[in-house]
Amino acid sequence: MVKETLKLPYGLRDSYIVHISEISEDQRGLKCNCVCPVCHEPLQARIGMKRIKHFAHSRNCPNAAETALHMMAKDIVLNNRQILLPHVEFAYEIIKPSKYFKYNHAKSEYFIKGIKPDLMISDGKNTLFIEIVVTHDVDDEKYEKIKYMNLSVLKIDLEEYYYTSIQNGTYEHLENHIIHQQTNKEWINNKLLNKAIEDYENEDIREEEQAKRKVSDLMLKLYHMPNLLYPMDRRIAENKYWKHTNQYLHLDIDDIYEYLNYPIPGEIIFDCDRRIWQTTLFSLFVINNKYSFIKIEWVSNWIVKKKGLPINWLVYGSWRQNAIQGFKLPSLADVLAEFFMQLADYGFLLPDLNCEVNDNTYNWKFYIKNKMKIIEDGEGYCLLE
Ligand SMILES: [Zn+2]
Repeated sequence: MVKETLKLPYGLRDSYIVHISEISEDQRGLKCNCVCPVCHEPLQARIGMKRIKHFAHSRNCPNAAETALHMMAKDIVLNNRQILLPHVEFAYEIIKPSKYFKYNHAKSEYFIKGIKPDLMISDGKNTLFIEIVVTHDVDDEKYEKIKYMNLSVLKIDLEEYYYTSIQNGTYEHLENHIIHQQTNKEWINNKLLNKAIEDYENEDIREEEQAKRKVSDLMLKLYHMPNLLYPMDRRIAENKYWKHTNQYLHLDIDDIYEYLNYPIPGEIIFDCDRRIWQTTLFSLFVINNKYSFIKIEWVSNWIVKKKGLPINWLVYGSWRQNAIQGFKLPSLADVLAEFFMQLADYGFLLPDLNCEVNDNTYNWKFYIKNKMKIIEDGEGYCLLE
């Protein structure tokens, strides 16, 4: 906005601001007994009918009207004992309605930690600061300090009043504007609002943590959940994977070796009975393997890409995501590695040295102990020394 110098409607008489409308006919000219509020030169009251009534002085005193308005506004707050505060709003909700603040203590030019708000008002319990803005808004440095100290600071904006209403701006008129209106007021900083923002953010964090915990709990459940999805009945014997496997092994599903029915953490990743996938892997990769070693990478690819065994895709897809969230559900490679480690403990396999130093189970490798010596002895497969 282009700043214009308004004709001065205020004079200072006996240290009180007087509005030009309060000057009577017989007090025209120097008889008004007023001085300029800024430069203290004597003022002449111009109250003729032809032009806007105002005070005049010889000096070029461009900020006189603004300064006088600012002074009068401060006087009004100092002389009152209540002021209407605007509501406090957060996230489209009014967290504190507009309300009169009753104060018994008011001070102007109150210094607090390097800043000087125009006014400080207090009821003995709560302290508010007030900035009265006519044409100069609160500068950034002051604003930062207010935020940093978290002071509740109310801004009373008189710019519009200055340009539109100053000619009517008697003390009473301005008093009504400052004390009893709220549209010209806003919070530069408000403790209650900051608290609400903080609570909201904390709640957000809490919700996020809760969601994470829920996922972790679920993952933990899955981790311990056995994948004996099928009851021990004849149906398993009709399962196509089992049938395929068992054409070489001729095992009895109800009387299976311990190492082919071994609970493995995270085995829920297989969408079939543990006995099926363990027996299948044992048959294909230990007994009937044409190489002398097993790589997890092969087995994993065979299961996933060649659809060698049924996979629970939901679980398969979720382990990556949850590795990011902090709880690592075993991957397919982890489950396979654990299973082959068990077979190593039973003496069928020998883990490659890489297994001890490499965390990525996908790269693990196991040697098959002299295959020719793994024989069926009627009790199960065993190793001949
Ligand atoms: Zn002046």
